[in-house]
Amino acid sequence: MNLSFDNNVPEPITAWQKWRDRLFGPGLPPVLMGEFTRAIGSYYSPFLVAGPVAAALAIAVAVSVGSTLALAFAAVALVGFGFILLACREALSPIGDDALPGVEARYALGCIMGSAGLGGIVLAVLAAESPMMLQTVVVMVALAALGVANGTGPGRPQVAAAQAICISVPMTLAIIVQWPWPWGLAAGIGVLVYGIICVSVARRSFTTQTELLHARERSRAERVRMDVAVAHLNQAMAILDEALRVVVVNRRALDLLGIEAIDTANPPSFPELLAGAPNLARSSGNREEFLAHAAMLVAARQQFNGVLRLNDDRVIDLECLPIPGGGWVSMLRDSTGERNAIAELNREIRRCPLTGLPNRRAFIEELEKRLGRGDEFALLLVDLDGFKQVNDRHGHAVGDRMMTRIGFRLRTADPALFAARLVGDEFAILAEVADVQAAEALGHRLIDTVDTPARFGEEEVQVGAAVGIAMAPGDGVLAESLLRAADLALLAAKLRPGNSLRRFTPELLQQSTSAANNEARVRMVLRAGTIDVAYQPMVDITTGRVVSVEALARWPDDGSEPLSADCLVAIAEARGLVGRLRRLVMAQAAATVAALPGDISLWVNASVLDLRSEAMVDEMMDALQTAGLSPGRLAVEITETALMTDEGACRTTLQRLCDMGAGVAMDDFGAGFSSLDRLRRLPINALKISGSLLTGTADNAVAADIFRVAAGLGQSMGLVVVAEGVESAEELALARSANIQRVQGFALSPPVSAALLPLSILRAEANARAALGLAAA
Ligand code: C2E
Ligand code: CA
Ligand code: CA
Repeated sequence: MNLSFDNNVPEPITAWQKWRDRLFGPGLPPVLMGEFTRAIGSYYSPFLVAGPVAAALAIAVAVSVGSTLALAFAAVALVGFGFILLACREALSPIGDDALPGVEARYALGCIMGSAGLGGIVLAVLAAESPMMLQTVVVMVALAALGVANGTGPGRPQVAAAQAICISVPMTLAIIVQWPWPWGLAAGIGVLVYGIICVSVARRSFTTQTELLHARERSRAERVRMDVAVAHLNQAMAILDEALRVVVVNRRALDLLGIEAIDTANPPSFPELLAGAPNLARSSGNREEFLAHAAMLVAARQQFNGVLRLNDDRVIDLECLPIPGGGWVSMLRDSTGERNAIAELNREIRRCPLTGLPNRRAFIEELEKRLGRGDEFALLLVDLDGFKQVNDRHGHAVGDRMMTRIGFRLRTADPALFAARLVGDEFAILAEVADVQAAEALGHRLIDTVDTPARFGEEEVQVGAAVGIAMAPGDGVLAESLLRAADLALLAAKLRPGNSLRRFTPELLQQSTSAANNEARVRMVLRAGTIDVAYQPMVDITTGRVVSVEALARWPDDGSEPLSADCLVAIAEARGLVGRLRRLVMAQAAATVAALPGDISLWVNASVLDLRSEAMVDEMMDALQTAGLSPGRLAVEITETALMTDEGACRTTLQRLCDMGAGVAMDDFGAGFSSLDRLRRLPINALKISGSLLTGTADNAVAADIFRVAAGLGQSMGLVVVAEGVESAEELALARSANIQRVQGFALSPPVSAALLPLSILRAEANARAALGLAAA
């Protein structure tokens, strides 16, 4: 069986080849040998001149010594030169590779014949016993010819060896035989040695030339491999030389630039390539800037990158890297898709995934942009009312759909609006409006839009909205300040019941600043524990005796502007500090009341947060115990508004207080909602009728009747009824006629400090006796 790859197995090197290589240097493959042969073409002109000169000289010598042998050798030499000239001429002309071995053969033959002729002439001249002078000249010329022919140029070791033999052997023989001994022998040996040296020089020169050819061949092969690799690379790229001339550029790169082909014989420079690229025609400005920038970096041999925008808006990243040792690799990459993806991602992180509206980040960017431009516009913050209930009642799926619906309604309320969802149920709108009135009109329109009921299957959902408006640049030139202004307006709007709208005014800022200031002061006073307590006596209307005192928190006398008790309590409630306030008041009040003569009881106020605290009852009992008071001497005043939000939890606390023997009083009855039903449900044993029910009773019979009805209600429920805020003798008389048991108010005593309390008690009793006409006890 014939294996097809047998052909690829190199032929074994014969012993002769091994010797030949050792003697004459490594042979050349046919391709390189052909090139080597072609190189002799360049010796055509020197040989054309030297040939006839040498021939004429040889003939002249032969004639002068009268030797036919010399003449015959001159003819041989002449024919040899003829072959050499023919070979050189052929090598110059465009002949096919297959003709080259013939040329090489003719050249070698010519060289050998020329040398043999020369050697023959020397032999003939010496044999003819011509004058010594002529003999010497002929020998010198022959030696020079041998040296010139073998040492340089188109020398080949084999040819050189043949030449050396043809010239030096006959010459050596002739010299030894003809010239006197021992000079003849010495000169003959010298000529032989010279011949050997010439061959060795020829061998070395041949080796150098073949190595050069091999090296060139290797780099050519390398280049072909690189070309193929670059051409088939997925990456668009070009390789440039030191002067930025294109050495290789692949199809992908050319396609990207819209170039058909480049002139490989006279390749353009890279800047020329870009300058002429049809696909870059539109972006000339950016291209020139890039090239100018690139030129600088090229000079410094620094890697550089650039971005080129193609006519069809594709974006090309260009990267040029210096190659160590010279030249550049330049890579082009279509990064359009990547850039689009990044842009999309950017958009994504600027968008609320639920409503599709711009999110807070995008909104701030837009706001800053408009403020930076100095635009006049309105910022409307829209806060949804009752959205939590939508989630609670209809579930989050419906909640999400409602939120999406509202986002859509806001965005489409007017195509010129910029609508964003900031957080949770808060939206922001930027609108270019003529004035505040237009902004307010838009605000009302947005409230109506939000307020429209939406249907999701069976379920109908409706939410309200509050709007805060700030105008730019009037209300703020920075995003933060404008947002704060709108926020304050929104806050004020939300304080109004129902759907409402408010525009920012400087007073809102003042209020908020002083609120923040007050908050800090309350924190400080509570942390320092310096809260004071005032006491206001309550007088039993039948005996005129003080039976209890109400403890009221007071701002300490620290020289600063005092904060009202209402304000103090509101801030403490809002900031979760109410427990601290309660403990401070309770501890002082229990000690103060314990120090009073008799068994006057202590009434303290509790907020809804106190009632929700599980620790309150225990803490109060501890305070009483510390002061040495029994639980029966304590009553806790609660307000209806407190009970409205979390009646269940409050009732548990109140029940525990009652169980411990403490009293519970409903404060401010008649001032608020006054639910009779709640009054019946709660474990209370006293009712404080609000002073507001007393106002106007002096000259208004209906008002007085209402007061009496309220008092009667408490009595019918078996509660201790207290009239608070009693300011005059008339009111006191009305209270008595309404069968109220206890009275409290300025008519008897204002709230006083602990130090003044004993005196205030005496005065209140005296006042009561005087007003009610009671006798002193
Ligand atoms: P309140 O419990 O209804 O207290 C009665 C308020 O009316 C007190 O105001 C008192 O000074 C005032 N007052 C007393 N007699 C008269 C009068 O004849 N005419 C008029 N016009 N006013 C009278 P104050 O001390 O400013 O307290 C305001 C509110 O602050 C209290 O209303 C109470 O709800 C709350 N508060 C006071 N101290 C505390 C406390 O320690 N804890 C809690 N949770 N709330 C407190
Ligand atoms: Ca009270
Ligand atoms: Ca009250």
